[in-house]
Amino acid sequence: MAKHIFIIGGVISSLGKGIASSSIGFLLKKMGYKVAMQKLDPYLNVDPGTMSPYQHGEVFVTNDGSEADLDLGHYERFIDEPTGKNSNATSGQIYDRVIKKERRGDYLGKTVQVIPHVTNEIKYLIRKMDEDNDFVLTEIGGTVGDIESLPFLEALRQLRLDLGREETMFIFLTYVPYIKAAGELKTKPTQHSAYKLREIGIQPDILLCRSELPFDDEIVDKIALFTNVPKKNVVNAIDVNVIYEVPLNFYESKLHQRVCEYFNVEERPIDFTDWNQMIDNMKNPEHTINIAICGKYVTHKDAYKSIDASLIHAASINKAKLNIVRIDSEKIYEESVIEKKLAGVDAILVPGGFGVRGILGKVEIAKYARENKIPFFGICLGMQIAVIEFARNVCGLEDANSTEFDEMTKYPVISLMEDQKYIEMIGGTMRLGAYPCKLKPNTLAEKIYGKKEISERHRHRYEFNNEFKKIIEEKGMVISGTSPDENLVEIVELKDHPFYIAVQFHPEFQSRPVNPQPIFKAFVKAGIEHSLLKK
Ligand code: GLN
Repeated sequence: MAKHIFIIGGVISSLGKGIASSSIGFLLKKMGYKVAMQKLDPYLNVDPGTMSPYQHGEVFVTNDGSEADLDLGHYERFIDEPTGKNSNATSGQIYDRVIKKERRGDYLGKTVQVIPHVTNEIKYLIRKMDEDNDFVLTEIGGTVGDIESLPFLEALRQLRLDLGREETMFIFLTYVPYIKAAGELKTKPTQHSAYKLREIGIQPDILLCRSELPFDDEIVDKIALFTNVPKKNVVNAIDVNVIYEVPLNFYESKLHQRVCEYFNVEERPIDFTDWNQMIDNMKNPEHTINIAICGKYVTHKDAYKSIDASLIHAASINKAKLNIVRIDSEKIYEESVIEKKLAGVDAILVPGGFGVRGILGKVEIAKYARENKIPFFGICLGMQIAVIEFARNVCGLEDANSTEFDEMTKYPVISLMEDQKYIEMIGGTMRLGAYPCKLKPNTLAEKIYGKKEISERHRHRYEFNNEFKKIIEEKGMVISGTSPDENLVEIVELKDHPFYIAVQFHPEFQSRPVNPQPIFKAFVKAGIEHSLLKK
């Protein structure tokens, strides 16, 4: 049976619970333990797939096709294990299961209640992760004190009772603010949050206290006394510049040792060589690269989380300092504005998206990149945009479009496949998850990946319309990746261009800090070459 670590947050949200959890997972994995991670979210949506990126940031996609919380992206990037359908559950999903069971009559006439029926379902989802793992890390979304998270915390309290102290650990992430006027770090919010947790019947075993400034023993003593946590288990998690330094700080603070001691498992040596190299590259860049991301969700800092991460990984391996220029596609239609915005930009990325707003700006920017030979990378909607732009401006198909944006378009170069035409429910019905893709020999795509077949994750409804394959290819756009049966276009590229590639899938979900995704790696490299050329 796996040992369970539960990560709960207190005081305020946005303390980086996902990164803290991932970092603990990272240290355990690096010690050679088999680790699985899971996020339980208290909201009522069945999954975040139906939520706007403005609300919830990026929707992460797993290999097995679930639309999940973006924290799963951190898990995969830190522990380098694929997550899946069991790695994320929401209150919506849990209630849905309970209600379906009730309708089927599974509860044999009983009154169905939060305790035990909802809590049993939560416990079941946690225990489901036991198999083949040494450690299961379960992160609870939200903050202690939220009404919504109560059933989850109650389920954890029961699990401690069911499995015993030796098999379960509570890690509590809190905040110790620095109050300028007093010139002091304040422990009261942490004390109160821990009281709140104890009120529910949970005594934290380890405290991770986020703070802007490092704190001394006096503060540790105070926190330990009031929260009932042994001093050595009060860990100061200070702010870092690079998130990948968090596990190194935890290691310095001997957090890995505390966890091993607690569970009475062997503390094994960790080899940080590749991880340190990656951070070292970030801190000592040899080039600077300005990359424009042109999308409509640019105002939300988490909307393109995995793309940002992939660019960071790619910049690190290319020893470049990354500067991301965010361009709101709803605000740039005219060439003069585009020119101004793109002055100094070395490479352009058009990410995924939904709906007609901002489309014109993206088409214009794709045109600009094509004509001015600036490295271009289109992702999902970004590929559809590249095709629309090429159809309109090179193939002469006036007003060519995707039927998503203009149902009556004369030239529907992007359209729905038959199986997507009659969808009644929008949740969970897109083309989702990993699909194989065959690469055409002697293309940029094949050169980048260095193999004939790849697997990448999808999340979209619309596809390249094969009726236009002939004209698009004749005019010089290369279809360099397709589904194995050649029915679905997955990658397009341009020949007479230093670097122009666009993909129907989302390569950003498979990038890892020490093993960047190949297209991102090549894209950043092309951007560096472009910037050197300008000099
Ligand atoms: N809106 C497009 C589609 O549904 C693209 C989706 C995306 O970029 N993820 O096909």
